[in-house]
Amino acid sequence: MRAVDNALTMTPEIREPQKRILPLHAKVSSALAREAIYEGTLPVARLERLKAAVVDDTVDLHVHLQLRRDANRAPKLEGTVTGQLPLICQRCLRPFLMPLDTIVDLRLVFNEDEENRVLKDAEPWLIEDDQLMFHTVVEEEVLLALPYAPRCEQDDCRPG
Ligand SMILES: [Zn+2]
Repeated sequence: MRAVDNALTMTPEIREPQKRILPLHAKVSSALAREAIYEGTLPVARLERLKAAVVDDTVDLHVHLQLRRDANRAPKLEGTVTGQLPLICQRCLRPFLMPLDTIVDLRLVFNEDEENRVLKDAEPWLIEDDQLMFHTVVEEEVLLALPYAPRCEQDDCRPG
């Protein structure tokens, strides 16, 4: 019986640092309290709007995010989203990989009054039901970082 007890109490942790999938969401209150870091891979294929903006959705985004309070005790979501996005060059019309290195620096707010109040100083992100939806945040931030007319910047880039 002892062996069975041990097996039940030990929670096996699967560690795959090379390809750890980013969680779907986090509970904001507890994540803030322990300044939780979320790191992992997010396949572009799981992001409907971003998927429509790329020519090949089999690529991954690499996400590193932390919830913490800043010096003024304001709740923040900070980190980076990196990767290479397959886009079409709007000049030569050839596909190319655009390096992505997006800084995430969001002020977490919990109602619309607060959202309006912080707007002039920070980029707010509205939290509902104490849940932070990572996929939504990442997709929004990457879409904002995409150039309106991407260019491949190759030497032989000519109007196509
Ligand atoms: Zn080009």
